Amino acid sequence: MTEDEPHQVARKILRLILRYQRPSRSSGCLPPCERCLCYHSARIVRHVERGAPVELVLPAFPGKSPNRRKVLGALPDMAERLSLEFLQYLSHRISETYSPGARIVICSDGRVFSDLVRITDQNISAYQTGIRNILDEIHTDMRRISRMSSSTEFRPLEVFNLDDEYQLTDYDEMRQDLVARHGEPLEKIQADVRAGGEPLDLYRGITRFLLDDSSDSESGMSRTALQKECRRRAYGVIQRSKAWGGLVAKKFPHAVRLSIHPQACSFEKIGIHMLETADNWLTPWHGVAVEVGGRFVLMKRSQAEELQATLIWRGGVPSHYVAPERTQLPTHLHFGPPAPGRRERPQAPETSEAA
Ligand SMILES: [Zn+2]
Repeated sequence: MTEDEPHQVARKILRLILRYQRPSRSSGCLPPCERCLCYHSARIVRHVERGAPVELVLPAFPGKSPNRRKVLGALPDMAERLSLEFLQYLSHRISETYSPGARIVICSDGRVFSDLVRITDQNISAYQTGIRNILDEIHTDMRRISRMSSSTEFRPLEVFNLDDEYQLTDYDEMRQDLVARHGEPLEKIQADVRAGGEPLDLYRGITRFLLDDSSDSESGMSRTALQKECRRRAYGVIQRSKAWGGLVAKKFPHAVRLSIHPQACSFEKIGIHMLETADNWLTPWHGVAVEVGGRFVLMKRSQAEELQATLIWRGGVPSHYVAPERTQLPTHLHFGPPAPGRRERPQAPETSEAA
């Protein structure tokens, strides 16, 4: 390689990723601008110069929202499967440009927040197992297609979660230790929020998110009581989020940082979409996959029901919806160029039930 070559390769890889960018409305950029390319390519160049797979981390796939007006249940379903297949596709595209390929580490953070976002640890464990099972299936398929030898251990998609870091069985103890090692005191976070600016915006955003995500069991509380409760929990979410970010940065110091939230132009993380959706903030664990005219679109369960879509079951659990034939695709869908084969679904027997 000439001296310039790693830089050119890094920019090519980055362009592939930025096609699926989730830009923030106020300060994002699409198509990717020179500032974004310069900013993010430095981390990729480092891997390319060493001839190593490009490492990407994506904090994502925590667990299904407890709000059943948004999701079908506690387990990963078609929304997760399609998203993981997309990440596999992205890694494959990178390997076509750069043969050592890419390794995407999904930092599944459900255990970090479960008590604060009101998901049981039992449901987090079941969700984590479900994600690993889907990844095993994707890996087996990939091996079959590429006729890789069984001795090839390279897996383009991996999961890291809090349970991998601790040899503990007490989840509360894990969370306390995470905060003790990588977190900040709650008093400091509260003082930062009181000072205003970005910490206050973040605090308000998380409080709104907790309110919106509150489960049916909490809907018996008065609005005022629920708001007060969510404000209290928001400080904890910020504290844990910073601590988790600290642990991930320590584990993967040179990785390119992806995010499932919209991100500003040339910010430290690249926000990405994994599925077509009209909602720039929606994630697979806050929504359902709906087949509309042969394309899968991510939306909230209540929106699928408004369309009078048919619920499809796979292996005894609800999987996704199929919209009636006359349904129009939502306008202004966010997503890059569709990945080929997205309509080819696994061959498991299907049963349907009117929604
Ligand atoms: Zn930009």
